[in-house]
This record gives sequence, structure tokens and C-alpha cells, in this order.
Amino acid sequence: MNTIYLDHQATTPVDPRVLEAMTPFFTDHFGNPHANTYVRALHARRAAEDARQDVAAAVGAKAKDLVFTSGATESNNLAILGIAAAARGVRKRVVTQATEHRSVLDPIASLSEDGFEVVTIGVGHDGIVDLAALSQAIDAKTLLVSIMLVNNETGVVQPIAEIAKICQMAGALLHCDCAQALGKVPVNVKALGVDLASFSAHKAYGPKGIGALYVKNLRKAPIRPLFRGGGQEGGLRPGTLPVPLCVGFGVAARLAAHEQAAFAARAMRLQERLCMGIREAVPQVRLNGHPENRAAGCLSICFPGARSDALIDAFTGIDVSTGSACEATKTRASHVLKAMRCSRADADATIRMSIGRFTTEDDVDRIISIIKREANP
Ligand code: PMP
Repeated sequence: MNTIYLDHQATTPVDPRVLEAMTPFFTDHFGNPHANTYVRALHARRAAEDARQDVAAAVGAKAKDLVFTSGATESNNLAILGIAAAARGVRKRVVTQATEHRSVLDPIASLSEDGFEVVTIGVGHDGIVDLAALSQAIDAKTLLVSIMLVNNETGVVQPIAEIAKICQMAGALLHCDCAQALGKVPVNVKALGVDLASFSAHKAYGPKGIGALYVKNLRKAPIRPLFRGGGQEGGLRPGTLPVPLCVGFGVAARLAAHEQAAFAARAMRLQERLCMGIREAVPQVRLNGHPENRAAGCLSICFPGARSDALIDAFTGIDVSTGSACEATKTRASHVLKAMRCSRADADATIRMSIGRFTTEDDVDRIISIIKREANP
């Protein structure tokens, strides 16, 4: 395929170094990591535990506080529904904010049927959560607060460390969806001060189908499983571990952490080049979201007066999207842009472009020339 891939917030290609590490675990080392009577199984178990160690180290966590899941959707559900299921007592409020991913908003919404009070805080035009309203909502009745680190449509980064302090003062737990953060911005669960955090391998050059949930002091944490079964992952997430995927996630997380600063610097240079080129072609374009508090390379660009589906057709040769891939089948406007008080017309004129590890200067120049050609036929 000769198109230029520019939708790295939807997913990323598996890094060749990740694939190389995974391959033997599909073929030679295929043992069930939970069997305990032969070396093949032991080998698989060691590989999965080394991978857990690598993912934990990449995000500043202890390996014993990390549970493997099938991805960030499951991690978000497990965090939210699992904490709610274990809740006893007066804390019946769950607080989130309007631009969260559906895999946070929907499980939280479902809690209102179970006697929880759900509070959704708005964001400013820049996509940053309204901190005054948030601190007012977090009180002695609050069980859980769920706020993401990096937004999947705009790349906007939320002030999690500040939010963590508010939660700690009120005795509320803080969950953070970090699916889009790994490899793009520094991620350290201790420095962020979060109690729970969700991760996904395929957003960081790892395989699809695996993620993780960090739970602070997991063994003592008030959280219940979503599934019942063989008791793996301390009973919190039973099921046979997919060892090749665990291994891939481990390598992907290690690379993401080691290369994050270099990637951010490169992505910023490419982003500046791309934005300058697009502005030359279409001077009225606007970048949605906060100008500085954002992950490098993640662009939500409004082409006023245009329609994003027509733009996508016009930009043949570039793989871009209108917004979240998870909502791609829906025709309604992005809930993220709506929450940021973008007009319907501007939301419909918005394209998401995201630069990745393998995007080159040459790619950026080709994209600019395609956009210039379409803007000035
Ligand atoms: N949260 C965010 C912010 C995301 O961008 C995504 C993926 N679109 C998810 C959660 C779900 O991740 P996964 O595909 O691993 O289930």
C-alpha cells in the first residue's frame, strides 16, 4: 500500500523489534504459562513476567501492581466497574469529564442504574477540564474520579498531577486512561499520583489485543473482577495469558519509554513543518485544542467551510480520519469537539492527523503537496 499513514492515534504499526521478540512465542515457546509441570510452561511464564516487569518499569509502577488485559477498553471497564462493585459505604459519586473515550463514559453512565451519582465536568474551548468545577464536584462522597492523560482526538493533555492532589484531599480514587500517552508524553504513575491507570499496546507500536491496568497496592485494593474463571492475574482478570502479546507489549513499552523524549522532539519538528505547509495552502485552518498542553504530533485540524468526508476523499494517498476510530461508524459529530464548544460546522470540517515513529520529512512534504494541490486546483 502506497499511502502515507497519518492516523497513529487510531493504531500504530507493530515495531519490527517488537515483532521479532514476539515470534518465537508463537512457535517454539508456545507453552501455557499457567501450567507447572514442564519447562516449556515455565519458559512462557518467565517471559510473561519479564514483560510485566518491562511494562511496569516503563510507567513507574511495580510489576505486582499491573494486571494484563485485552486492551484499554477492558482496563477502563475493569477500573470503573471493578471499583464500583467493591464499593461499600457512603461514597456513591463518580466524577469524569466530557471528552473521555467512550470506554470510560459508557461504563460510568451505566453506574447511575446501580445507585451511583454520575457527575460529568465540562472542558474549556481548549479541551482542558474545568478545574474549579472539578474540585467542587470531588467531595467526601466521591468514590472515583476518571480523567484521561492524552485525548485521542485532539492530543490535549490534562493536568493529572494537579487533579490527583484534589482527589487525595477528598479521599477519592483517581483513575487515568493513559491509552494515548505511552511513548508520546512522560508517563509515571507515581509522579502523576494516580491510583489506577489504563494502557494499550497497539497505540505504542505493540500488538492489538493486549493492555494493562495499574492498580496501586493491587493486593489490598478495593476492586472486583469483571470475569470469573481460573484465577489468573490474582483472580482479577482470569484467563490464559497471551504470552506472545505480553512479550510484544513488554518490548513496545520499553521502547516507548526509552525513546519518548526523542520521539516528542522529532514529532514536534515534523508537526511544525506540516502545519506551516498546510497554512500556506489553506490560511484559514485552525488547530483544535490547547496550543501547548498537547502531545507532539497529534493534530486535530479544522478546515473552515469544508466537510471532513469530502476532505478525506480529496486527500487520496493520506490515511487520516475524522476523529475517533471507535466512533467511525456513527454519523453524529464528535462528542469531544462538541464539549469544546466547536460549532457543528467546524466539527464536521475537522480532520485528525497524527505523526508516528516512522513518519519521515519526505512523508510530510508529500502530504503538504497533496493538500496544496487539492486547495488550489
Ligand atoms: N482510551 C483511549 C483514549 C483510546 O484512544 C482508546 C483507543 N481508541 C481506548 C481507550 C481503547 O483502547 P483499546 O483499543 O486498547 O481497547
